[in-house]
Amino acid sequence: MEPTLKNNGEISYKCEFNPPKRKQRGMVGREPAMVRCNLCNQELGRITETHLWHKHKMHFPKFIRRFPNANIGPLPWNKGETKKTNLSLLKLSDTLKTKKVWNFTNWQKEHKIYYHNLEKDRSLAELIGTVLGGGTLERFPRTERLRIICNSKEKEHILHIADMLRTKFKKLPHIFKRPNKNATDVYIYQCKISKRLGLSTGNKIENNVGIPSWIKHNKKFAISCLKGLFETDGCFVEDEDNYTQIIEFKNNCKRLREDVYSILCRLGYHPQFGKNYIRLARKTEVYSFKKLINFRNYS
Ligand SMILES: [Zn+2]
Repeated sequence: MEPTLKNNGEISYKCEFNPPKRKQRGMVGREPAMVRCNLCNQELGRITETHLWHKHKMHFPKFIRRFPNANIGPLPWNKGETKKTNLSLLKLSDTLKTKKVWNFTNWQKEHKIYYHNLEKDRSLAELIGTVLGGGTLERFPRTERLRIICNSKEKEHILHIADMLRTKFKKLPHIFKRPNKNATDVYIYQCKISKRLGLSTGNKIENNVGIPSWIKHNKKFAISCLKGLFETDGCFVEDEDNYTQIIEFKNNCKRLREDVYSILCRLGYHPQFGKNYIRLARKTEVYSFKKLINFRNYS
């Protein structure tokens, strides 16, 4: 070490030994160069989407278009250039969007998955009833999930639903018992489930779902659909002391209750229209309806 005299009279020691700087990942042999943001002039290790959005409410493609020659800094070791960070890739992507044929067209055709249409029959009508009653349809970026929530105690019902899903979608459904709860989910992931069922994804009450018209206007299909609805959202109560029997369908969606009500009327029943239920309470009607839909009989 060599002592040197500063202008203010202090003595400083200039260190001859420079400890090696820790190399950063992906920048082997390169100094981590700082770059300046073209918008706010802030010094950054790299111009990131986070910075652009946080500070300037701007996404990368717009930034790249505006500053094609901007130095955005070194890329992380595990990332390559994308259309978000590179103008020429962005242009290429834009060009390919307008073209009908490109290098991978044949490959895409060979590997395209075709989802078979679901045949409109009694089992589909029953499945739609089940979905309307106790199911949810959720959309994900690349797939959809159909989930039916069941009572864990009703094992036969769970197996019946799983079997319906397996035969309709040609895929084994998952069965998941929620811990510490009396609920079991039966679910399946596949593309275009909602389109093929003719139902919309999301909240059933907000969407104000109803029974599809191809089911409503066919007696056999309507009965199968009622089976699905009553088995998921319904109950049968037999009170021998009071000589009362009821079979009812409970649901908060008004349009669904109206549809169930009108089908029951057309079948010759006298249902009660409640705030959140449709109920049959005449003794002969309860038993004949139970027999008609083969309520909770899966043999
Ligand atoms: Zn900035």
